Amino acid sequence: MSPIKGTTKLLGVIGYPIEHSLSPVMQNAAIAHLGVDYVYLPFAIAPSHLKTALDGFLAIGVQGFNVTIPHKQAILPFLSEITTLAQSVGAVNTVWSTHNGWSGTNTDVIGFIKPLELYYKTWKDKVAIILGYGGAARAVVAGCVELGIQEIYVIGRDPQKLAAFQDSWRLSPLAVAVKTCPWEQLSVVLPEADLLVNTTPVGMYPHVGESPVEPAVMDKIKLGAIAYDLIYIPQTTEFLNLADARGAMILNGLPMLVQQGAAALELWLKQPVPVEIMRQSLQQYLES
Ligand code: NAP
Repeated sequence: MSPIKGTTKLLGVIGYPIEHSLSPVMQNAAIAHLGVDYVYLPFAIAPSHLKTALDGFLAIGVQGFNVTIPHKQAILPFLSEITTLAQSVGAVNTVWSTHNGWSGTNTDVIGFIKPLELYYKTWKDKVAIILGYGGAARAVVAGCVELGIQEIYVIGRDPQKLAAFQDSWRLSPLAVAVKTCPWEQLSVVLPEADLLVNTTPVGMYPHVGESPVEPAVMDKIKLGAIAYDLIYIPQTTEFLNLADARGAMILNGLPMLVQQGAAALELWLKQPVPVEIMRQSLQQYLES
């Protein structure tokens, strides 16, 4: 990495807590590889200090930053411009400074899509099933729409939250008609799915033996369907193990994490970034 000098520009990530963020690892690996005069730092910002922190960032000339839990929605009122995509998702994870203040977008959507792009030439006739209706599920719905998928089912355990999620998409700038399905009906719709995405934290470390889909239900997955788990620790979850054993293609959350970070860095630096270096840095860090 080039030395930090008087000219070094500042990037970072805000969250609370922030200690577990993997973003500094991959962003600084890319910055070092490119030899650009930047540094990327983690900032623990308590919710009550969000506005003060944003004003301070402007004052000290921060160029841009990522946003993670719990600020992804809370930051919206403090931005002078929000992309239509981020408005539809209802959350911002990447912010950059402009002469008018802060602008924001959501690179989780492109992060989700990128690893899928090679699988099919067209997604128009494909069916997606999304497990969960939280923050990540919102980026996944927007990603499915961007891919061109016309039939999107969302599965969740709370009927009221599920209905609210469905309504929010109908009313969003993307005006998407998402179908919903209670968890108990998953086995009925699963045989239709070309893409099954787990956006719940079920199976995440340390609960590594758990899967959001029971083995008997996973039996219904179509041969060659894609099972995509947004979890990246562990890299092969029980959900992916079950799907793999039934002939599905499997994909974990690490490429999405890398691609959302790469999209953010590209936006700040306005130049191509070394995605493979970012991936390797994370892989090495997770294995150490
Ligand atoms: P979130 O907003 O808290 O949403 C979690 C969702 O999972 C909610 O819909 C929740 O439903 C559901 N859920 C939780 N436990 C469940 C259970 N036992 N059975 C059924 N549904 C359950 O979290 P998030 O931010 O969307 O993140 C979700 C996962 O995605 C995490 O594992 C996170 O690490 C991962 N993620 C990965 C990336 C990446 O780049 N790879 C990016 C973002 C997120 P209720 O509301 O009913 O509890």
